[in-house]
Amino acid sequence: MKIVDFDQYIRVIEDFPKPGISFKDITTLLKDGEAYRAAIDNIVEQVKGYQPDIIVGPEARGFLLGAPVAYALGIGFVPVRKPGKLPGQTVSETYELEYGCDTLEVHADALRPGQRVAILDDLLATGGTTSATARLIEKTGAQVVSMGFLIELSFLEGRKKLQGYDIFSLLNY
Ligand code: AMP
Repeated sequence: MKIVDFDQYIRVIEDFPKPGISFKDITTLLKDGEAYRAAIDNIVEQVKGYQPDIIVGPEARGFLLGAPVAYALGIGFVPVRKPGKLPGQTVSETYELEYGCDTLEVHADALRPGQRVAILDDLLATGGTTSATARLIEKTGAQVVSMGFLIELSFLEGRKKLQGYDIFSLLNY
């Protein structure tokens, strides 16, 4: 597996989408074939030890990491989406944001009780998205065995919200 300094492929844009936010833009990594493949290979290596049956990725950047990892492992991928996007019957979970709240949905028949699920997303910030995603998965009776991220903003202490789960990230800010 190729060793890559992923840090140099992430573009940091200050004050986006609002003042005070230091946005970690992964599009600069995704457009570099070698860096993208190395990131996926690295995540595959870390997640396969948990022997997941399926990968779950939240909209939209979770798709960009979750789907290629699922493909590489020869297992399925289940999308978690914002309300009104999934055509079948859904299970939903609402979580609080700084101002207001947000809802995530998954198809009610997408996961089976006892299935081993790995959640993959681009970035762990406060942990709100991942914690809601885990609750969603657990509502279906499936089990979260791992949570993986390209980037972790450790100063936001997202891990505190995700206590009891196995978490890994490739890059820390
Ligand atoms: P959170 O629920 O706070 O852990 O936020 C996680 C989601 O918000 C991730 O899926 C990211 O896509 C996005 N996000 C939060 N903060 C940032 C940031 N500083 N740069 C880029 N994306 C972010």
